[in-house]
Amino acid sequence: MQRRSFLHSAAALALLGTAGCASTSIPSKARVVVIGGGYGGATAAKYVRLLSDHKIDVVLVEPNAAFVSCPMSNLVLGGSKQIAELTTPYRGLERNHGVTIVKDWAKAIDTGRKTVTLAGGATIAYDKLVVSPGVELLMDSIKGLRAAQASGQVLQAWHAGAETVAMRRQLEAMPDGGVFAITIPEQPIRCPPGPYERACQVAWYFKRAKSRSKVLVLDANPDVASKGPLFKRVWAEQYRGIVEYRPQYNTLSVDPATGIIGFEVQEDEKANVINALPAMRAGAIAVQAGLNNLANNRWCGVDFLTFESTAAKDVHVLGDSIQTAPGMPKSGHMANNHGKVAAAAIVAQLSGWPVNPAPMLTNTCYSFLDDRSVVHVSSVHEYVAAERTFKTVPGSGGLSAEPSVQEGVYAVDWARNIWADTLA
Ligand SMILES: Cc1cc2nc3c(=O)[nH]c(=O)nc-3n(C[C@H](O)[C@H](O)[C@H](O)COP(=O)(O)OP(=O)(O)OC[C@H]3O[C@@H](n4cnc5c(N)ncnc54)[C@H](O)[C@@H]3O)c2cc1C
Repeated sequence: MQRRSFLHSAAALALLGTAGCASTSIPSKARVVVIGGGYGGATAAKYVRLLSDHKIDVVLVEPNAAFVSCPMSNLVLGGSKQIAELTTPYRGLERNHGVTIVKDWAKAIDTGRKTVTLAGGATIAYDKLVVSPGVELLMDSIKGLRAAQASGQVLQAWHAGAETVAMRRQLEAMPDGGVFAITIPEQPIRCPPGPYERACQVAWYFKRAKSRSKVLVLDANPDVASKGPLFKRVWAEQYRGIVEYRPQYNTLSVDPATGIIGFEVQEDEKANVINALPAMRAGAIAVQAGLNNLANNRWCGVDFLTFESTAAKDVHVLGDSIQTAPGMPKSGHMANNHGKVAAAAIVAQLSGWPVNPAPMLTNTCYSFLDDRSVVHVSSVHEYVAAERTFKTVPGSGGLSAEPSVQEGVYAVDWARNIWADTLA
């Protein structure tokens, strides 16, 4: 057996949680449709093909021509990476795994008829549907933001790509002595440490290129939501006089003409470049399909054993769109792991096999403090059958003791590995 197929078989059996039932009851004509080619969806598409020995057809619906990674995208703002370095074409999924890629938006899901209608007009039938559309940013939760965003003046760059590059240009155009303000909504949000990493990246750029400029972090949360002591230490030491952190600043309005940001309680602030992050919820297509049945209809409930929606049969929701289990972050690493657990469950269900009763998930999240120095947080999550949820394994994972360049090497390797695991 070739090394590559041995590795695939070993990984397949581990994910299926079985060593004995890989005999062939896999139906040859089943079709899985995947909406969204990000960390969750692309992984699920690839692993359904791998785990079914390429017998189940997989159609991936994704409007973008290539995958652009949010992890590492803050480094584009800092200036040490280009967006092209974070971009991977989808052809690996097509060529290596036989996933059919349809470049389009999913416009509607009919969970009764089990069909997906595309913006281009076509309708695709599914046996199983995977929905992994990421998050929708609730622009109307901040007064003036929708118009400010549409005019290109106040950006989010919370979906990596053109907006990330445009925000870097805003920073380059900002006069020395100016202020970059990032406003953070209440948790839960996509990537809890992401805004604080971004503050470091912009500060790193200012320190080298515009040393009289400031980074204002205006956070609706009571404290830094992830890796708090590590970020605060770096702001106090490496970025003293550049980064100012203010908790419990709930942003209510932005006005790009004056640069004024309004808050629920405090006085207005003024900034040259505003990065206003609004509240978030499940991706729009999940909402349109009525899958957002939890947390004031913001997130999608799933059965954690299979990631099948609690609102619609044969629909599996992954990644940032779900109501997470305790201690589970909305991260790319986690979405990738959701994709594998869901793929194994889908293949088992379509094949009449028992579903793995004890799936495990891992998470590691690195944050770059400059171009090389990094901190991480990691965790391991096990499915607890009695409570039908994932729980963090006591004593698992951990947090960096201090920033290190060695962790910077690990972080770059993490990115290369997960991009290959998801897309190659
Ligand atoms: C600045 C930043 C830094 C981050 N850093 C890290 C990090 O270091 N480590 C980490 O693990 N995570 C990090 N994350 C979080 C990570 O990016 C997300 O958690 C992850 O992308 C979630 O995966 P997903 O599949 O849910 O969504 P995504 O990866 O966003 O994928 C969603 C896909 O669905 C597509 N889509 C949406 N709607 C439709 C539709 N109607 N039809 C078809 N396709 C559709 C989109 O085009 C997109 O390709 C970071 C995020 C940000 C913003």
